[in-house]
Amino acid sequence: MMTLKIKNSTEEIEIGKIVCVGRNYAEHAKELGNEVPEKPVVFLKPASAIIFSGDEIKYPPFSEEMHHEVELVLLIKSKIKNPTIEEAHNAIAGYGVGLDMTLRDIQSKLKSKGHPWTIAKCFDTSAVLSKFVLKDDSNLTLNEEIYLSVNDEERQRDKLNKMIFKPAELVQYLSSLMTLDKGDLIFTGTPKGVGKVEKGDVIKAGIEGVAELTAEVC
Ligand code: ZN
Repeated sequence: MMTLKIKNSTEEIEIGKIVCVGRNYAEHAKELGNEVPEKPVVFLKPASAIIFSGDEIKYPPFSEEMHHEVELVLLIKSKIKNPTIEEAHNAIAGYGVGLDMTLRDIQSKLKSKGHPWTIAKCFDTSAVLSKFVLKDDSNLTLNEEIYLSVNDEERQRDKLNKMIFKPAELVQYLSSLMTLDKGDLIFTGTPKGVGKVEKGDVIKAGIEGVAELTAEVC
């Protein structure tokens, strides 16, 4: 069982499924040669992929091109299915920062064959999480910047408001596809600037006013 720690709270929340959205920033879709989607691109990660800030990201032996993707992560508060946009907004308990570590070489091969991306996204340590903040403690306006550095060299920085599909829209859409439950996490997509990491690299990432995380690749 994986549990999530919340800032200013003693409650530990059991993590459910991890639903991820791809191509949610136009400039990132373009940098990988993809079209900007009309609906969110959706995939899943298993809870077994989760590690927390301070833990190590393990390079899988079957890949030579692991990329960093920094993302706003939503925590779901309660069971929800086909909500209104207001109900979807209210179903978000809080926010965190996450890394959606991706095996780009594997993903490119799978994409070219029309296969699911699962193997590129599901490996152990591929979901790195910060502590979370409750919505009541973090007045997220989407004017905040999300950022990531590798060995103190900045690689990604963008405003959250560049997201094509905003948090409540994502919750509304995803819960029309599958019931969302308390403890589910939603990775909301990464801005431009994704790139390769090497063993020994130290990744630092954060969102202004929300949280920060750090992880070493080994
Ligand atoms: Zn991603």
